[in-house]
Amino acid sequence: MNFNYKCIECRKCEENCSIFIATGKYGPLEKLKIIEDLHNDKKINDEQIHTIFNCTKCEACQNSCPQEISLIELFDWARHKIKITYGLRNEKQFYLIQNILTSGNPFGSKEPRLKGIPSGIAEDKIDHDLEPLKSKTLLHLGCMLGYRLHSMRDDVLEIFNLLNIDYTLLEYENCCGYFVWNTGDHETAREIMQKNTQDFEKYDKVICACAGCYTFYKEHYPNKEKFYHCIELIDDVLMKLKKEGMLDSKKLNEKRTKSLVFHDSCHLTRPHNIIEAPRRTLNAIGLNFQDLPRSGAEGLCCGADGGMRIINPELAVSIGRDRVKEAKKMKSDVIITLCPFCIFNFRDAVSEEKVIEVESLYHYVRNYLELHLKK
Ligand code: SF4
Ligand code: SF4
Repeated sequence: MNFNYKCIECRKCEENCSIFIATGKYGPLEKLKIIEDLHNDKKINDEQIHTIFNCTKCEACQNSCPQEISLIELFDWARHKIKITYGLRNEKQFYLIQNILTSGNPFGSKEPRLKGIPSGIAEDKIDHDLEPLKSKTLLHLGCMLGYRLHSMRDDVLEIFNLLNIDYTLLEYENCCGYFVWNTGDHETAREIMQKNTQDFEKYDKVICACAGCYTFYKEHYPNKEKFYHCIELIDDVLMKLKKEGMLDSKKLNEKRTKSLVFHDSCHLTRPHNIIEAPRRTLNAIGLNFQDLPRSGAEGLCCGADGGMRIINPELAVSIGRDRVKEAKKMKSDVIITLCPFCIFNFRDAVSEEKVIEVESLYHYVRNYLELHLKK
């Protein structure tokens, strides 16, 4: 870890931090000062520990730092140092880790995540580890799609089928380890990563349906080049079909009366520059949409990730509400996004008043392909 950074206290990082914007505290600069104390083995208090964990790891601070300080690496280092010095932050972190170790998912569900997939969609794609591989491309669903967002899971599977993208599903897919990593328990996360790496060995490509898993695989697993996010593939195939005249992009807009706004996922934009692919996809299927203020690489976080839903769910949802207000100001009826964490958090943020719909991009792509893909 490089501690020879030179912070000039310009506070540019705070201007883009959704946590600091919402609370006026827990900003990246405050975190850096605590990290200095941790680095010098000074004792820190509960409130300082809380400050370190109140972070979505959205990378907006790092992206705007003129000194190019690797803030996310430092935040990860601090979480780990806190774990080994003071133990786990709270009970919920402990149960989350236990659930992942015993059930392979943070919710503690004993059901396999493929359960409930409507028949006819994916039975012939499952790797039961008995027969030769069906495809050397693995589609990794992730815990959120596997246990909390089944409609999104089924939309992704149907899109792959409709676009003739060949894939295999693991019968017993495991958590990627990202939830565990964010508690600071890097030792346990590494054990999970090692087991997954073995499972992935026989595949040439791993396509992630979840933005959180994707960024974790890309940044912390070996053989980074074999991990893709599924929007990259969907975009590629749609562009090919468009060139061949197989998509009629006028058709969907003919019937559309709702105003749509697109929210970027921090996990895809800043670290991996996946900014144009979802927009090209929306355009290819003829959807008119607007961007929220502060989008793309400058996008504001929805408030959900980095373990925030465990550590401070009220703040996570309140940040989601602020983003929803921005969408409402633009007179939007639907927020479209493609990250399960954003969808989950926005749905909680609008749950009381139902002020706006929250929908996954895959829902629209599937609808379009089912109705309009020329056979
Ligand atoms: S943007 Fe970078 S240099 Fe400026 S205060 Fe934040 S960490 Fe320090
Ligand atoms: S990663 Fe995001 S939430 Fe965390 S300090 Fe940086 S800007 Fe704030």
